[in-house]
Amino acid sequence: MLKKGNKIYSIFTGVCPKCHRESMYLNKNAYALSETLKMHEHCSNCKTKYKMEPSFFYGAMYVSYAVGIAFAVAAFIISYGIFGAGRNTIFICIIATLIVFLPIILRLSRNIWINIFMNYDKSLANK
Ligand SMILES: [Zn+2]
Repeated sequence: MLKKGNKIYSIFTGVCPKCHRESMYLNKNAYALSETLKMHEHCSNCKTKYKMEPSFFYGAMYVSYAVGIAFAVAAFIISYGIFGAGRNTIFICIIATLIVFLPIILRLSRNIWINIFMNYDKSLANK
């Protein structure tokens, strides 16, 4: 599933959505908190401009809501379904999960958002 040419690949690795050759982010480590959302302007390989229009990534907020819910549901299933935790413990688990995974959630949302608008292009990948 995780191979070049697939949107899933770009979403989970944060590479350029058009050529899948290079990371969109300055720092590949999402947990370098000061650089979590710092991105390159253009792809150095295919010259795709990531920020297609001003405040393009504001739309990623809507996606981050859905991604956040997905993480919260996962935290609920693990804490309640597997460990049988009580209500307060479940609540704490969900909050902790959302805080710990925040950088991942933010990046996943951006990757999903940009992949809605851009498609993989084989001719650019082979440059
Ligand atoms: Zn590219």
